[in-house]
Order: sequence, then C-alpha cells, then structure tokens
Amino acid sequence: MKTLLTMAMLLAAQATPSARPEDTEVWTPEPPVVVPGAFSAAPPPADAVRLFDGRDLSQWASVKDGSAARWTVADGAFTVAKGTGNIQTRRSFGSYQLHLEWRIPAGITGDGQARGNSGLFLASTGDGDDGYELQIMDSYRNKTYVNGQAGSIYKQFAPLANPARAPGEWQSYDVIWTAPIFAADGSVMRPASMTAFFNGVLVQDHTVLKGTTRYIGSPSYKPHGRAPIKLQDHGDPSAPISFGNIWIRELPDAAVK
Ligand code: MG
Repeated sequence: MKTLLTMAMLLAAQATPSARPEDTEVWTPEPPVVVPGAFSAAPPPADAVRLFDGRDLSQWASVKDGSAARWTVADGAFTVAKGTGNIQTRRSFGSYQLHLEWRIPAGITGDGQARGNSGLFLASTGDGDDGYELQIMDSYRNKTYVNGQAGSIYKQFAPLANPARAPGEWQSYDVIWTAPIFAADGSVMRPASMTAFFNGVLVQDHTVLKGTTRYIGSPSYKPHGRAPIKLQDHGDPSAPISFGNIWIRELPDAAVK
C-alpha cells in the first residue's frame, strides 16, 4: 500500500507543471579541453551554396516578420544586432552539410550562459527559439552546464570535447544534419541526427536528437518538413558575437519533404 502511494505521489510530482530550467542542466562530467589546430579559412567546395559571402545578408530574414535581416555587416562578417531578433535563411533545407564560422568578441564580459550566447538552429520549427539548437557561446575558460556549452545540443547532449578558442579568434562548426522524417499521422519515422566538428574536433558523433530544444522541460518532436536555418539573438548582456563564412551542401534525402 505504502509503495503504491509513493508511486502515485511520484507520478503526480512528474506531472506537476512546476518544472524549472535547472532541472535539465547537467554539470558533470566536463568534456576534456582540447587545443584545436590552427584556424583555416578555406574556400568552400565548388558545389556549396554560400549563405554569407562577406558582403550582405540577402539570404537571411528576420524570423519575426520576414523582413530583411537587420544584423550588422562589416569587414566581411556580420554581427548580432541585439534586440532585433533571430534571423533565418530565406530558403528551407532538409538534410545537409554546413560550415559556419563565428567569433566571440575580444574582451567579452559576463559568465556562464550570459557570455557570448547565440545559437545555430539546424532546423527552425517556429518563432523565437523553436528548433534544434547547436549551442554557440564562449566556452573558453567559462564554466556552465555541460549540456549547454558550445558544441552541445542544447539541454540534450554535451559535446565530446571542448576545443573552444579564446575570444577574438575565429572558430568553426562543420555539421552534418540528417533531418527528421514524420509519418502522415505525425509520429516520428526517423528522428533527427547530427554529427558536428568544432574547430575540427569531433563534438557530436551521429547524435540522435530527442526532439526540439526546450529551455524548460523535456524535448519532444512535432512534425515539420524542410525548414530554414536560424541564428539566435540571445539577448544576454555581453558583447554580441559575429559570423563569417557560411556555406551549405544539401544532401540527397528525398524522404524529407
Ligand atoms: Mg544559445
């Protein structure tokens, strides 16, 4: 009787909508720090589509209203204009290979998640932060929960290593994204998976995602098709981060409509 009561209480506790952000933070074990090789600004492969060529943001739009992206372009890079909101590609994608360069400003302040926070949403599934987030932030000598540091799939999977470079230096993500596939009834036929290299170091190895990113609560899937790629205007008080060369190669994946 007592056991049954305890179980009932446990189930009730699970169902209570009093979940806190801290509930889904994981702090240990910390991924080993790995000093990456030198940054190399290699030109894209011949069949890649450049999503930013150093000159303009014509391929990006404000998530809020679809208007032109209002982030700042200068010196061959673009920088989050805080408060203008997330931006996303005008085009939608299924599965792909993506290269993206980013830089935390030198002299950044703040700590934990409030230090150079942005994010790469591999597929945007709605406004705001809806989608699957590969975290971007300053993880160079900056402790936070490991499933929220750079190279993590936010609040789902810590990176296998921490190869972050110091603020002021360019860094790179190379991602293979395999989009999820949903049945007509909305059930998951194939979950999303991804492999990612951070500064040339493997940080996600064919990781199967649990669903879209949730700040509070557990991730879950909701059906979607091809989707834009989104970058996060996080709104933390530290200096905004910049992005450089971005290119994509779509992968043949006829199942993703
Ligand atoms: Mg973020």
